[in-house]
Amino acid sequence: ERLTLEQDLRAGIGRGELTLLYQPKVDARTGRLTGVEALVRWNHPVRGLVAPDEFIPIAEQSGLINDIDTWVLLTACRQGEAWSRSAVGAVPVAVNVSGRNLVSCSLSERVLDALAQSGLDPRLLELEITESAAIPQQGRALDLLQSIRDLGVRIAIDDFGTGYSVLSRLQGFPVDTLKIDLSFVRAIVSENDSAPIVDAMIAMGLGLGLKIVAEGVETEVQRRYLVKRHCSELQGYLISRPITPEALVAQFRAMPRIAAVA
Ligand code: C2E
Ligand code: CA
Ligand code: CA
Repeated sequence: ERLTLEQDLRAGIGRGELTLLYQPKVDARTGRLTGVEALVRWNHPVRGLVAPDEFIPIAEQSGLINDIDTWVLLTACRQGEAWSRSAVGAVPVAVNVSGRNLVSCSLSERVLDALAQSGLDPRLLELEITESAAIPQQGRALDLLQSIRDLGVRIAIDDFGTGYSVLSRLQGFPVDTLKIDLSFVRAIVSENDSAPIVDAMIAMGLGLGLKIVAEGVETEVQRRYLVKRHCSELQGYLISRPITPEALVAQFRAMPRIAAVA
């Protein structure tokens, strides 16, 4: 089963079976669109749409993840560049980078490549790296992240709270954004009962001068709670599911443009 899926995936990448959906992130206070996260889908000829949780692990084990992440990076950059010339305006685009790829030092070259090929303003690109992949990095890998950030590209720590947070390491780490994992957001069940871990993560992140994005916001109660705690941005089904670029344009065209990135 695994092997078949791997062979199918290898062929599928070549046949152009991968597509990207984009999930909006909005300003917690104003509800304005602040960016999107690119999420890969595999359109399998027989199985239909395959979720990334089913094929990313296989791709990571077989090395195919390099091809996938390279394709995602370029496609998302091209889309971001196209949006910046459309009615939607400049929308920062976030791309997930597999932990495996972080160690390979070609990441900065691939980022440079994608930026050059697409013409996207580097300040409109964000890389999402999981906490467990990012924080233990030292030496060369850390220099690599720093060099990518020096281009103007932002770095976000994904699934924050699920890795082994060595909090002391976060200080001085080349990062702009913390994305609070949805498992913590789920713990917000009422506006008046506190969710102490969420509170602590927001306070700490803001204290470090970082942007805090809450993932997996599904209820109005969660939204109101996070707004009250000064969480910066919200992402989740309450705002929108991951959607096609066309749907994004239709949904957000009418909204006021976000201010140009400083
Ligand atoms: P992630 O980066 O944490 O992405 C967020 C996941 O949460 C997405 O699942 C998204 O659809 C889902 N989600 C968003 N809002 C809600 C909500 O309100 N409730 C719930 N229950 N879920 C919500 P998706 O698209 O299936 O992606 C799963 C994971 O696959 C991602 O987790 C990411 O780790 C990985 N992935 C996705 N695209 C790529 C990619 O292009 N490259 C790599 N390397 N990994 C990717
Ligand atoms: Ca992510
Ligand atoms: Ca996440």
